[in-house]
Amino acid sequence: MAERDGILAIDQGTTSSRAIVFDLDGRIIATAQREFPQHYPQGGWVEHDPKDLLDSTLETSTKALKAAKAAGVHARTIGITNQRETTIVWDRATGEPIHNAIVWQDRRTAERCAALKSAGHEAMVAERTGLLLDPYFSATKIAWILDNVAGARERAERGELAFGTVDTWLLWKLTGGRSHATDATNASRTLLFDIHRQCWDDELLALFNIPAAILPEVLDSAADFGVTDDSVLGQALPVGGIAGDQHAAMVGQCCFTPGMIKSTYGTGCFALMNTGDEAVPSSNRLLTTTAYRVNGRATYALEGAIFIAGAAIQWLRDELGIIAHASQSEGLANDAEAEGLYLVPAFTGLGAPWWDPNARGAIFGLTRNTGVAEFVHAALDSVCLQTGDLLEAMAGDSGTAQETLRVDGGMVANNWLLQRLADLTGLAVERPEVIETTALGAAYLAGLQQGLYNSLEDLQSQWSLNQRFEPAISRSAREHIVEGWHDAVRRTLTTPQ
Ligand code: ADP
Repeated sequence: MAERDGILAIDQGTTSSRAIVFDLDGRIIATAQREFPQHYPQGGWVEHDPKDLLDSTLETSTKALKAAKAAGVHARTIGITNQRETTIVWDRATGEPIHNAIVWQDRRTAERCAALKSAGHEAMVAERTGLLLDPYFSATKIAWILDNVAGARERAERGELAFGTVDTWLLWKLTGGRSHATDATNASRTLLFDIHRQCWDDELLALFNIPAAILPEVLDSAADFGVTDDSVLGQALPVGGIAGDQHAAMVGQCCFTPGMIKSTYGTGCFALMNTGDEAVPSSNRLLTTTAYRVNGRATYALEGAIFIAGAAIQWLRDELGIIAHASQSEGLANDAEAEGLYLVPAFTGLGAPWWDPNARGAIFGLTRNTGVAEFVHAALDSVCLQTGDLLEAMAGDSGTAQETLRVDGGMVANNWLLQRLADLTGLAVERPEVIETTALGAAYLAGLQQGLYNSLEDLQSQWSLNQRFEPAISRSAREHIVEGWHDAVRRTLTTPQ
């Protein structure tokens, strides 16, 4: 059998690590996945053991490389994509972490962020980083580790410690401690990186009290990140691509021109809109971020998040027990008579464009006929209607009209959901053949660096449509439903808008 070239994508996520070997046409050849433990030391705290992140990555990578080889595909390079913002600090001499990884969901630095906000720093931080003063992002997590691990701050000042998001930690370990680097997308989630100048910012470092000596070098998303040590994967492979998960999905979906949007529907939902060379500030509390950086040129995106997407279906299954499997939701919604019924799934508050952390969920419009199917219908509707709100905010901020929405993630197996998404947003919804877009994006970046592809634009021809859903209800019918939704949302808000 003739050997063909392939690319290994490492997808280090919040609950599991995955490794996928793609061939150069972007087809999946081999895949391996492993979950790892979550640690909740206190309410609102979430940690991972950095060794679990590494071990699960190495185990799945080794498996996928081996299976691909058996199928005649030889990986030539590695791309890494990762859960974003999660923070690790380790000893440069021993490679040992000095604390568990503090995960993006962790809220332990909420007070610190509130203090910085009330001291009036948010405008400057938002202007430079595109982010908000929120515990989500890395800076206050790094400071927490330096202030709470004995001797850490002094050691960091002396240059003995290294900080990294998960990509950087894995890269360090894969290269036997030779590379301490990250890419511009991951750096853009730290609150320490000026997304306009594309470099670490001294004023931000001073504000968050972070010594510069701890920081990794920031490279393009397709760059020479180093070569794996023979002892780690049994072979020396270059690491040619790194991007945070949502950014990699943007690349995997080939959203390369301004106005293109991808929306990923898993537990939550993340929508990113390409805004080209311009970092567009948001007046609707969306985030501005580096979409990817290639050949020294940053492409920017507006980003919005829905906290509860697939989680609303999990809630119906696990807390209410009214469905047994997520996949049942499709048939049930199809049979429902749910006119005027709205579920506002504000279980953990509402995100953009409402931003009310204290809002809580509610269901409106119950009648004597409301049953299981109607609850399911309302839950899926809430995913579509929240997406509509994000899209409207993006259109307002960017001034760019949208026509299509490219979707991926576990929920997009549901055809009813995608048709409804088209109906309620008025956009054509496109599901690609390969829905592993996050891993695919990391593979594309690595392949680009390795010269296996000529340019990002060249990759567009690889994106292939599985199914397109066209809006099929009238504009006035849509507006009527959206009006009812906004009325329901307003009734859950704790601060009137
Ligand atoms: P994550 O990466 O966040 O763990 P996935 O992309 O694996 O999520 O998607 C899983 C989510 O999708 C779950 O919340 C599940 O409830 C939801 N889901 C899976 N299949 C369907 C379906 N057919 N219809 C609706 N929701 C679904």
